[in-house]
Amino acid sequence: MRINRGRIEGEPSDRRGPTFTGEVWAEPLLKADGVTVNTVFFPPGARTHWHTHDGGQILLVTHGRGFAISDAGDGGPIQAGDVVWFEPGERHWHGAGPETYLTHVAISLGGHDWQDPVTDEQFQAAIDAAADY
Ligand code: MN
Repeated sequence: MRINRGRIEGEPSDRRGPTFTGEVWAEPLLKADGVTVNTVFFPPGARTHWHTHDGGQILLVTHGRGFAISDAGDGGPIQAGDVVWFEPGERHWHGAGPETYLTHVAISLGGHDWQDPVTDEQFQAAIDAAADY
């Protein structure tokens, strides 16, 4: 077994690059046996690109408000306390709301496949579909 004291010792926080829109930061908590756990911070308007996870992904939403959207047409607004499960291979994106930050713990299973950016029109469609926004 292993106990990481809050995060992975010696591994710096990571500003995510070209597979995200906006300035997204990730804090590495655990990497073990095909499981990757990060805390991810999205400022308002920031989001992932469309992507899939080979073994699926769990999001534990810890602060703020945002979106988790599946290409299959489901998903919607998320907020602190919500728990999200993406099926293996399910094409999706997640991120902050237009005027709210979002922090989630992401538990990712296996590899991932990054795809095209979420366009401003797609982001606006998620906002328009949500009564709360
Ligand atoms: Mn994901």
